[in-house]
Amino acid sequence: MNIILLGPPGAGKGTQAARLVAERGMAQLSTGDMLRAAVKAGTPVGLQAKAVMEAGELVSDAIVSALIGERLDKADTAEGVIFDGYPRTAAQADALDLLLLERGRALDWVIELEVDEAALIERVVGRYTCANCGAGYHDRFKSPVVVGTCDACGAHAFKRRPDDNAETVGTRMAEYRAKTAPILPIYEARGLVRRVDGMADMEMVGSAIGAILAERTDRARPGSVSVPARG
Ligand code: ADP
Ligand code: ADP
Ligand code: ZN
Repeated sequence: MNIILLGPPGAGKGTQAARLVAERGMAQLSTGDMLRAAVKAGTPVGLQAKAVMEAGELVSDAIVSALIGERLDKADTAEGVIFDGYPRTAAQADALDLLLLERGRALDWVIELEVDEAALIERVVGRYTCANCGAGYHDRFKSPVVVGTCDACGAHAFKRRPDDNAETVGTRMAEYRAKTAPILPIYEARGLVRRVDGMADMEMVGSAIGAILAERTDRARPGSVSVPARG
């Protein structure tokens, strides 16, 4: 099962990807996480990406597609992958087709998280993560059970992203509208797109995604259905 989670910054892609990793053993391929790791490590890619990310603009297609290609070759992707924050442009969508084809894999679904843009600023600005394990939290929508202690690993240090401020979010939204939203019709034409209400609470969004994945599994089961599996 290989799926793309598509939606503007703060839509809930990372939150839902983490659930799928925990529940289904899929691998989360987040180009944002990969780029942040590169920035932190001071690699050539990181040096090139840092200022672009801080401005809320898009890193070059060649860089992110190369990162995805390398990641797809790791063994933990065998159970399926969740593309989180990739592809973000038509060129990346084309590159992904090739990367999958070369590896004998295919996309099962493109799941669009439909959200109200006005609510996203608050989501992004209130976001923080555990500095140790990366678990995601929110000032208003998801506090740790014990204040100041990560639910997942018990650590006490948290961090915020430098680009999660109201000003940069505006640029990131504009990039989404201009470059990412236009790739949906490509996938729509292939019958791959399913929409989920991303304004529902996290649990409900998770069950809606689960239902879509279950549908695909049913279709793929030989003899159980009238609709042929996509090949
Ligand atoms: P994305 O990866 O799409 O940028 P995240 O998954 O990081 O978005 O979510 C952004 C912030 O909003 C996080 O702090 C997360 O805890 C919170 N969040 C995610 N989904 C929901 C939801 N359905 N309702 C309320 N808050 C949410
Ligand atoms: P969010 O889900 O909140 O939009 P990400 O963590 O996915 O944030 O991305 C953070 C930043 O990393 C983006 O604003 C952009 O600068 C860069 N980035 C991540 N993925 C891509 C991509 N596929 N193409 C170009 N730039 C990317
Ligand atoms: Zn933690």
